Amino acid sequence: MTNVIRSCSPQRPDDVLTERAEVSADEVRARVTRARAAQAGWHREGPAARASALRTAADRLRDRAPAIADLLVREVGKPVREARAEVDRGAAILDYYAQMCFAATGDVLAPSLPASQPGLLYTERRPRGVAGLVTPWNFPLAIPLWKAAPALAAGNAVLIKPSPEALACGEAVGHLFDGVLPEGLLGVVPGGAGTGRALVEASDVVSFTGSAAVGAQVAVLAAGAGTPVQAEMGGHNAAVVLPDADVGHTAALLAAAAMGYAGQKCTATSRIIVVGDAAEFTEALVAAVAGLRFGDPAEDEVTVGPVINAAARDRVRDVVESARARGARVLTGDVRGHADGDGFFVGPTLLDRVDPAHRVAREETFGPVATVSSVPDLATAVEVVNGVRYGLVTSVHGRDVEALLAVAGGIDTGLIRVNAPTTGVDHYAPFGGEKASSYGPREQGTAALDFYTSTRTVTFAAPARPAAPPRLVKESL
Ligand code: NAD
Repeated sequence: MTNVIRSCSPQRPDDVLTERAEVSADEVRARVTRARAAQAGWHREGPAARASALRTAADRLRDRAPAIADLLVREVGKPVREARAEVDRGAAILDYYAQMCFAATGDVLAPSLPASQPGLLYTERRPRGVAGLVTPWNFPLAIPLWKAAPALAAGNAVLIKPSPEALACGEAVGHLFDGVLPEGLLGVVPGGAGTGRALVEASDVVSFTGSAAVGAQVAVLAAGAGTPVQAEMGGHNAAVVLPDADVGHTAALLAAAAMGYAGQKCTATSRIIVVGDAAEFTEALVAAVAGLRFGDPAEDEVTVGPVINAAARDRVRDVVESARARGARVLTGDVRGHADGDGFFVGPTLLDRVDPAHRVAREETFGPVATVSSVPDLATAVEVVNGVRYGLVTSVHGRDVEALLAVAGGIDTGLIRVNAPTTGVDHYAPFGGEKASSYGPREQGTAALDFYTSTRTVTFAAPARPAAPPRLVKESL
């Protein structure tokens, strides 16, 4: 029996955005075969044609910006200001990779040929074939685009399997390319885990973003098939507040980084670690969190909307209740949410006195929950930051450059942000984490072009000259 994928609005769950039949494993394989057939021609079309397609998609995204931002708000409950920013970022990603279509595709090296035989030694990055992209719901526009744009720029075909929670947004990404790519070169395949697995097994290169548990399965599956794979996964990110940090400014920054979009970012701040006495900073942080607007994400001033679904709401409530049962104190917030309709609302919640062994201190909650604790010195701060299995991003706040450098130097995360929130990263810079947060090469920037290509090395020697004819030796005059 065919499963139906239905995506609903988290603020009004009876608002159904789209319903689609799940694509079967056989159909996924058929689409990969069609995409592979289209890919060879796409690569031959050359960089100008590829750049033009990406620029057209960027222009369409800008033209459709208000409607697509509204779709993000409605389908995944993203606060509208963040939704607009994601649309802008999507267009910037497409513009960037349109330019990168003209980037050098290799290096020229000095050949080690005999002097009598001129030649060339060069490398050439070539597309891998069909890129299978498995994406999460939380950045339903930017993540599919930051995978698809470099894959297309490098000459690959692309199949995107969006999260079932963000299917309408995934389809909107596909429509940006309507009519500008060869038939079958780019497609969106609706489905859940089974469709995702089939795509991972059938593709020539796999890029996944999502939870650590699923990412580990995807990496094993792809590696078993001999397919290059990258997996960007969860985080349990810390912010370290040094004694000389500006209290008010840093508290406001961290409140938004922890609770914005209901904490549903891989880069959200979950653990706030204050070096020295935490009393003054905690007071400012409580006020900053309590002051965040919580409610309908369509309202301009709202920072904290709903969580994505009932399971997420129950998970967040359960983790907070369980931490309380183990001695944690709720400084502000009410996980029972608010009574505005049936949406999946959970109040932004700040905890202290948390048992360091409890899962709220060790595992990603992916909700509007953060903990605050104090440590005596920099070395302990670094130890606490590194004491979890994740390693995505850490922020450090203060003025003493020596202390900032000491903390930054000891931290084991792929991204370090000094006097900047853990959330947000420039779209042209490499992006990825360490430990359980990432597997495989980095995303974004030129790193992505490397990932979606395979480098071959060409030794090109001029044909050997025929041996010189024997000289006539005059025997005598
Ligand atoms: P998820 O792991 O549940 O799902 C991600 C995608 O994988 C979805 O498309 C899903 O349908 C698919 N999938 C599920 N099971 C699969 C399987 N067995 N094989 C193949 N595909 C399968 O994640 P989610 O709930 O959509 O997203 C939230 C998670 O994503 C959080 O953990 C968050 O930290 C992480 N995330 C990471 C980054 C990053 O760049 N590091 C960015 C955004 C989100």
